[in-house]
Amino acid sequence: MPRRTAATLATSGEVLRLIRSGEAVTRADLGRVTGLSRPAVQLRVGELIERGLVVERADAPSTGGRPPVRLEFNAAGGVVLVAALGASRTRVAVCDLAGRELAGRDFAIDVEQGPDVVLPLLLDTWDDLLGDRPREDVKGVGMGVPATVEFARGRTESVRVMASWTGVLIPPIVRERFPVPVLVDNDVNALAIGEHRGVYPDLDDLMFVKVSTRIGAGVIAGGGILRGALGAAGEIGHIPVRDGGGVLCRCGNVDCVDSVASGTALLRDLRAAGKDVKTIADVTALVRAGDAETMATVREAGRRIGEVLAGAVNILNPSVVVLGGDVAEAFGPLVSSIREVVYRRSTALATRRLRIEPSRLGAGAGISGCAVMVLDSVLSPEAVDESLAHRAS
Ligand SMILES: [Zn+2]
Repeated sequence: MPRRTAATLATSGEVLRLIRSGEAVTRADLGRVTGLSRPAVQLRVGELIERGLVVERADAPSTGGRPPVRLEFNAAGGVVLVAALGASRTRVAVCDLAGRELAGRDFAIDVEQGPDVVLPLLLDTWDDLLGDRPREDVKGVGMGVPATVEFARGRTESVRVMASWTGVLIPPIVRERFPVPVLVDNDVNALAIGEHRGVYPDLDDLMFVKVSTRIGAGVIAGGGILRGALGAAGEIGHIPVRDGGGVLCRCGNVDCVDSVASGTALLRDLRAAGKDVKTIADVTALVRAGDAETMATVREAGRRIGEVLAGAVNILNPSVVVLGGDVAEAFGPLVSSIREVVYRRSTALATRRLRIEPSRLGAGAGISGCAVMVLDSVLSPEAVDESLAHRAS
């Protein structure tokens, strides 16, 4: 067995991880868990306290004698800036280091207006929401955008869907105003991360399907987000359905599920059938009123989505499929058709314990997912050690 050397001793970043996860809450715990000497524990804890990442509380229950000082992760020790961009709605927020939203604002903005319009709006809104707070408090930025993203570089990739954003490297633009780590991911990945961490933290395999203006999925596999080679994992919207009728999709292919069953497709088909529907809310009203033709169109869309999801379930074998997005949230008949087809078409083994559930966090999952994404990165032991070293030098 290799001897424990100074190089393998727990760093301040690892000590923070132990405190943050609750694995060690006193200096004595830390000594026991890490094998560090008392002075070494003291040094690391002192550094973290000085940095505002850890606070001491003297309120631990006493078993007689002096109660040990409890160490707590200081969620108020900084903030992260987050933005969940949707095709037609965007939420911008400031969160604490536990991912709780401190202030936020919603915008009805068309992302197709492009980065020159949207990014300055985000930056100004964060500035506004921060108010008098010192800008050194900002530890990172997390964003979800409705496009395929090459995650490592924060570069938007999808040429056909968010054309004005093609090839845009978002992080350098954000860093001009806020010189901190900037993480950008696909919007549905952010929803999947948020719903996973917030509602199903004990499950390792989850698929989040967003049915809204567009259709997409975010996949949690083995406990982490599955991004694929170029960030395009989970792009189920452009899988074709059978007998779709030859609908040309904006991606150039024919009968993609997105082109026959998304919110956009529903509105188009209902209008073609003579219904006066401008928004998803109009469709909801017709469903509530029990309009037979609308119900049939919605059910058909559900079957189409179910067909594609059944294939995805066979490949990924998730424990839970979460259905979110305003279309899924508004239509009971759509969700029941999806369920029916997935259970009928997927293999018995893949569906034996499969749950299909509506999103519990709704649009809020986007903001919390972006916060989790950036916090996991900036509070990782490596990142904390690097920033402490940077500061010391
Ligand atoms: Zn397509």
